[in-house]
Amino acid sequence: MGCGTSTDKSRLQRFVLVDGRLQADPQQRLPGRGAYACDDACARRALARGGFSRSFRRAVPTDPDLLHSP
Ligand SMILES: [Zn+2]
Repeated sequence: MGCGTSTDKSRLQRFVLVDGRLQADPQQRLPGRGAYACDDACARRALARGGFSRSFRRAVPTDPDLLHSP
């Protein structure tokens, strides 16, 4: 998500839009366009800066609760 960290993709957190809502995809198996963050803090920063909206090219509800990983 443009944070500049180059990490193995399998270690990144994947997020997808499901019915217009951001959803974490720990198994990286959900269909659709995905956005990646290197960790939780990175995801929160991206959320605050609108990085997810840029990645998905649409408005993303900024619900920080969605970033909690199980
Ligand atoms: Zn990052």
